Formats: sequence, structure tokens, C-alpha cells
Amino acid sequence: MAQTLKADGTPAGARIAVDNPATGAVVGHVPDATAQEVAQAIGRARQAQPGWAELDVRSRADFFARARRWLLSHRQEITDCIVEENGKAQEDAIAEIVYCASAFAYWARQAQRLLAQTKIRSSSPFVLGRSMYTRRVPLGVVGVIGPWNNPLLNTFGDVIPALAAGNAVVLKPSEHTPLTALLMERMARECGWPGNVFQVVTGAGATGQALVDTADFVMFTGSTKTGRLVAARAGERLIPCSLELGGKDALIVLADAPLERAVSVTIQGALSNGGQMCTSVERVYVEEPVYDAYVDLLRERFQQVTSGKPAGLGSVDVGAVTFPPQLSTVEDHVNDAVSKGARILAGGHTTPGPGRFFEPTLLVDVDHTMKCMREETFGPTLPVMKVADVEEAVRLVNDSSYGLQASIIGSNIKHARRLAERLEAGCVTINDAQTNYMALGLPMGGWKNSGLGVRHGAEGIRKYTKLQAISANRFPLRRDMHMIPYNPSAYRFILRLVDVMYGTRRGHRNK
Ligand code: NDP
Repeated sequence: MAQTLKADGTPAGARIAVDNPATGAVVGHVPDATAQEVAQAIGRARQAQPGWAELDVRSRADFFARARRWLLSHRQEITDCIVEENGKAQEDAIAEIVYCASAFAYWARQAQRLLAQTKIRSSSPFVLGRSMYTRRVPLGVVGVIGPWNNPLLNTFGDVIPALAAGNAVVLKPSEHTPLTALLMERMARECGWPGNVFQVVTGAGATGQALVDTADFVMFTGSTKTGRLVAARAGERLIPCSLELGGKDALIVLADAPLERAVSVTIQGALSNGGQMCTSVERVYVEEPVYDAYVDLLRERFQQVTSGKPAGLGSVDVGAVTFPPQLSTVEDHVNDAVSKGARILAGGHTTPGPGRFFEPTLLVDVDHTMKCMREETFGPTLPVMKVADVEEAVRLVNDSSYGLQASIIGSNIKHARRLAERLEAGCVTINDAQTNYMALGLPMGGWKNSGLGVRHGAEGIRKYTKLQAISANRFPLRRDMHMIPYNPSAYRFILRLVDVMYGTRRGHRNK
């Protein structure tokens, strides 16, 4: 969106102030786009889209390659922007840039193969001799609505495959972190992308709602509550949508787990991005024989984790709490657990300002009556629970309304794989947590209240297309035998044929 600047450098008509969660200072202002402005952006996108879709794959790949180079040559500026508006550690911001650079390369390379026409065969007597195929057609204008926890990865990351499939995209970032998306709009301009193929509309929830009212497909990442609203509206409009919602991801530590690895994975899974990931490890179940040793090691490592205002590489492990209301949710979950008998082994408190921070917090003696084990916390806290055996772990992992991801740490991979298949989660990692997200060929999506559809993998790009099926009769007769006026002998012949193909004789043969 083009911005007119006032004399003091703030955009004219700016209504949303963006703060730095680590300092509380206002770092920018963005327009709060009205429904009419969203409709205008969609209109411009509709005009631009056919030209973009007609480009051959190589030309689109060329635009992506330019963008990839821009992304890498502006990495410091992008990192600073993410850190400034989100408050995360610089290392977490770099991970977002690495993801987007690889996404440009991956989707440019794979789009043609994954969207290729498919030849279809049929043995039905009604279509003998027809040549049939399916083709994938871009949906038109894709609306991407993103959250504040990953201003580049969960927002612009989804723009890339939508564009690769030949759509135009309008992106609505979170009102709390809109600046990185605007930087991507600048990137598109500076890389010479065709005008209006990618646009950003900034604003609050109503702006997102207006996008759902006008786009041809919605890719939404955020809370389950808002996801339901998006899906309901998409249902009314009969447009497809893909939802990546909340999670309460569990990690199981098996009795044969290498404990140093278990602790490293736990800490990374629970505290990277300040625990503000849909895929954060939010609860741990440890088999009784290794519980004490694991907790001792985990406590020691938790106490070494640094948190505070990010100030360059290596300055802190855990940054700020980005979303103001999240601080009360985190406090509430910790207080609720303590009031029901949990013990705090590390952290446990909000850090005094400026900025919003919560100490990396380790809780034990927890159970499923506590909010911290059942509701999404989305902060730098981790409850750990002792379980008698694998059966109890499986029961407790599956005792959740969410089903995004789960992790298992253990030495016997065969055993861990069998266990993985019993968990009600869209993704399971063994001896890892979260790294699956970086494998763009591997689908990622939630079960239960964690979402609908997937990103990544073949479906991660095919969802941005509609299917067209084409059937051609290459040898058209004056009249096919099954056509009106009906001929009894023709239908007796068809029945005999069907009997041979699917009936009793074949049935007997199959026995
Ligand atoms: P929301 O789901 O409300 O927001 C996500 C995005 O949707 C934002 O861009 C938001 O705009 C937009 N939006 C809000 N209302 C609507 C609407 N009616 N129609 C369309 N778009 C809309 O999440 P919150 O930011 O309020 O966070 C709430 C909770 O969600 C957190 O506490 C956390 O538990 C969870 N969460 C999960 C994430 C995930 O990755 N799965 C990411 C972030 C949060 P705006 O921000 O401008 O209001």
C-alpha cells in the first residue's frame, strides 16, 4: 500500500501505532485500512492476476530469484525490523529469513511438477476411448491473514506458494507487527514484480474480515477462536480456506531417551521465539525411570537461559512477550498451576518494564486439571509431568482439544515410530521438535482444533488452485449405444460387460 508521509515522517491518516514489545517505544504507524480500501486492493489484484498466471514458470522463478537475493542482501534490515516490532531474539528472526529464502527456491523449483496436468484413465463402458486429464487453475486472489508471532514466516511465507501457483495475493499482517510485511511490499517493488500481484493491507481485525469477504481463498494463521469465524464466513461465501490455528504440543521423554538431547530439544522447542509458536512444546510427559534425572538437568539448563531486550546476536535467548494480552494469559496459567499444587523450579514472574517480559519458567507436579496443561499458553513457560509408562503418556497427549504437533525423544526409533502413529497430531517429530517446519516437502497442518488443511508438501501449493477435469471423445460416433432411444440389447451387453469386469466371476476369482 502506497504511503503518504506527513511532515513528521508518519504516514498520513495513520491510525495504528506499532510498539516495540521490548522497550514499549512506538516504532511506527500504519494505516487502518477500511473495507472499501480492501475491496480496492482486491480489485487491483484481480486485474493483475491473469498476466501473472500467464507467465511461464521460468519467468515467475526469475522474479522469485530476484526476491531471494534481495531478501539475503537486506537481511540485517529485515532482522532489525522483525526484532523491533516483535521483540524476539535476533536468532529467531534470522530463522524466518532462512525459511523465506528457501521457500522462494523450493516453490520456484517444485511448482511446475506439483501443478502438472494429470492423465486420467477409466474402465467404465460409458467413457471407453475418451482421453481425460485434470489441470490446475489458480484461484484468483488469495488473502493471507497472519499473526504477530512470526511477522515474516507465517505471513509472507504463505504468500510464496500462492504466488507460485499463479495467484495474486493480498496480505493482512497482524496490527501488532505490520512493518515487516510492508518491507516485503517494498521488496516486490524494488525487484520489479508486476504491479499489484502482491499487496499489503494493514489494519486490525475488521480489515482481516473485509479480506475474508472479498478474496477467493483465505490462508489464515492465528487463534482457534478467530479461525472459526474465518471458516464460517468462508462457508457462507463458499470459498475454500486453510487454517493453521493454536496448539498444545506435547513432548514425550521415553525411558531410553538420551537425556542431554532430550533437554536440548525441550528447551529449544519450548523457548525459541519466546515460546510464542503454534508449534511450541507446551507440555512434557516423562517416563518415571528417567524423570528425576531429566528434571534435574532441565532445571539446570533453564536457569542458564537468558531473557530480556534483544541487542544483537548472542545477547539473549528469549525476547519479549509480543502481544500485550498474552502476558496476563501466561501469568494466569502459572498462578492457576501453583494454586493447584504445581511447583516452580525456575522463573515464574513477570519482569518489570520497560517492555513486556516473562521469566523462562519451569513447572513440575502438574496435572490435567491445570490450565497450563490444557489451554494454549503461548509464552516462555513449560510444565513437566511424570508418567508411569508409555500408555499413560499416549492417553495424556491425546487428552487435548488440539492436535498440531507432538515430539518423542527415545533411542529405539522403531518403537518411537510406532508410538508416533498413536498420537493424535498432524505432525510428529522423533528426537527433534519444530525442525519439520523447515522441510518444505513435508506437509504441516493440525488435527482437531488446530486447523484445517496443510501448508508445505504437494497440498501446500495445490490448495491454491482449483481443479478442472477435461474429457475428450476423440472418435465421436453418431450415437453411443447407451444413448436415448434406449436399446434393451445394448443394456444387456453393458450388464454382461460390467459382470465380467466387477461381478461374480471376478469376485470368485478374487476369493
Ligand atoms: P487472532 O487469531 O485474533 O489474530 C490473527 C490474525 O487475524 C491477525 O492478523 C488479526 O488481526 C486477524 N483477525 C482478527 N479478527 C479477525 C476476523 N474476524 N477476521 C479475519 N481476521 C481477523 O489472534 P490474536 O493475535 O488475537 O492472538 C490470540 C491468541 O491466538 C494468542 O493468545 C495465541 O494463543 C493464539 N495465536 C496463535 C498463533 C498461531 O501461530 N497459530 C499465532 C498468534 C496467536 P489483528 O492482529 O490486527 O487483530
